[in-house]
Amino acid sequence: MPVTIDELLTRVEKPARYTGSEMNAVQKPFSEAEVTFAFCFPDTYEVAMSHLGMKILYGILNDLPYALCERVCMPWADMLREMKKEQIPLFSLESRTALHQFDIVGFTLQYEMSFTNILEMLSLGKVPVKSALRQKDDPIVVAGGPCAFNPEPLCQFIDAFMIGDGEESIIEVTDTVRQWKKEGASRTECLRRLAKLEGVYAPAFYQDSYNPDGTLQSLVPIDDAAPSVVHKRIFTDMDKAYCPTHPPVPYMQVVFDRIMLEIMRGCTRGCRFCQAGMLYRPVRERSVDNLCDMARQSVENTGYEEISLSSLSSSDYSNINELATRLTDELGSQRVSLSLPSLRVDKFVQDTLSQTQRVKKSSLTFAPEAGTQRLRDVINKGVTEEDLMNTLGHAFANGWNGVKLYFMTGLPTETDEDLCGIAELAKKAASAYYAIPKPQRAKGLRITCSASVFVPKPFTPFQWCPQDKPEEVKRKQRMVKDLFVPLKTAHFNYHDSAVSRIEACFAVGDRRLANVLYRAWELGCMLDGWNEYFRYDLWLQAFEDCGLSVDFYAHRQRGLDETLPWDHIDAYISKSFLRREYEKSMRGETTRVCREGCNGCGLQTLKGLCMACE
Ligand code: SF4
Repeated sequence: MPVTIDELLTRVEKPARYTGSEMNAVQKPFSEAEVTFAFCFPDTYEVAMSHLGMKILYGILNDLPYALCERVCMPWADMLREMKKEQIPLFSLESRTALHQFDIVGFTLQYEMSFTNILEMLSLGKVPVKSALRQKDDPIVVAGGPCAFNPEPLCQFIDAFMIGDGEESIIEVTDTVRQWKKEGASRTECLRRLAKLEGVYAPAFYQDSYNPDGTLQSLVPIDDAAPSVVHKRIFTDMDKAYCPTHPPVPYMQVVFDRIMLEIMRGCTRGCRFCQAGMLYRPVRERSVDNLCDMARQSVENTGYEEISLSSLSSSDYSNINELATRLTDELGSQRVSLSLPSLRVDKFVQDTLSQTQRVKKSSLTFAPEAGTQRLRDVINKGVTEEDLMNTLGHAFANGWNGVKLYFMTGLPTETDEDLCGIAELAKKAASAYYAIPKPQRAKGLRITCSASVFVPKPFTPFQWCPQDKPEEVKRKQRMVKDLFVPLKTAHFNYHDSAVSRIEACFAVGDRRLANVLYRAWELGCMLDGWNEYFRYDLWLQAFEDCGLSVDFYAHRQRGLDETLPWDHIDAYISKSFLRREYEKSMRGETTRVCREGCNGCGLQTLKGLCMACE
């Protein structure tokens, strides 16, 4: 007798990852749907269920009367082992349908270190891992999300990428496959139709070539269905954007166990390392009325007691005070609290925060990113030490005793003096606390400073910059760690440089890295985003087996005139703007925020789209 999935769940930890049937999960009869879409999140259930994009697209697809969308997450290692042993293919949560039975398999690409999970999920789902091996009856494999803006390292595995906002393009892609199924045309014909959709990139219709020094010479269309440049999609009117007011509510603890209310999309602060800040432009806000309505419905449909006012820079939302006050007035009596995930130290909306904390006090997180003003200007962070100390002083005077400060090591032009600045800021933060009269301040100061490793990302002014070599990363991390030893109330922790090194390769890599990815997966790499499963040795072997160099991808300064692997993708952020910003950063010059005047990033060519340059 074959083993059932339920029997399997008795053998693994956290079986709720695989049960489905959550409140608000959409159950539609699989056989009645004209087109079926498996929405795959290449990481575990608890990460997937915390992702707003998945909730939005899941809701949009299931609102289509002729379509069905079901969720599929990356199993944890114990479940993978049991499924392989019992030959149970990867299945969806709603109907436990095997992945290969869906018409479309869609992946969201949030993090380069989740790429091996994509190959593992395809293989476990009995879908040929390489596009070139897929037959007519195999699912069409699509992908979207921030990593799709450099789709090349995944070009052998994804049939079509959706570039930019997904709200409209995912419906167009689903309708195209539905029509193609009806007509029974060839698989290539399906891909050609997808390639003609705005914002869709079908990598099979492009050919790459390289210069003798290994740099990319060109990537050109080889089929007339394929445009030479693919423009990102922009969903313009946020008040019309789908808001997931009745998302599935997990039975288990997940990373973000709360309502995520997207108050605006985009940010125009222009931090030069920040990819999201460039890719999600222009800034588009939802109205306060719309948000209050969405919040009310979400609380009613989920029972959650916390609402996160989500965006890249929530304190920049034009009506943040009014929104926080109205939501707290309306929902406070139901003990629903608000949180502001992305606070800027220079825009510390004191009144707003007091409002949000009327129900429950949450810890404060700020990201100065660099320890000195010189380096903060280089990265165009736009915050001063004075901003930070004023903000912390206010926070400590109003009862906070815990603060997290985020930094990066390895930023372009960084010196040891900048790194010493991190410990100096921690010291000054402690002084700001002790400056508050004892009776007024909360007991037990905790200052946590954590530093990630700089990773160059496409479509940023730092896309040409190398990452520090591992030995230099370690030297810097050790140096800062030592500076924190004498600090009793402040702690310093940092990211694993090896993971960041492989991440850098895939962030700025070309399509030759698809071979490395496949080899790494063959060697057993997966769940790379989890330290206990990351196998650096196997990754280095994969590069060696493919005759490619990690140094070439992660630690090389790129020429400003070099053809970059993502030059055929247009995010409406011009290369000349990015180059200008890069050159300004090397001179330590800052750029104003767009609300003070347009900086000509490229979007201004799309008349009337950017509220900041009206
Ligand atoms: S078009 Fe101008 S105002 Fe708008 S995001 Fe770009 S630089 Fe900023």
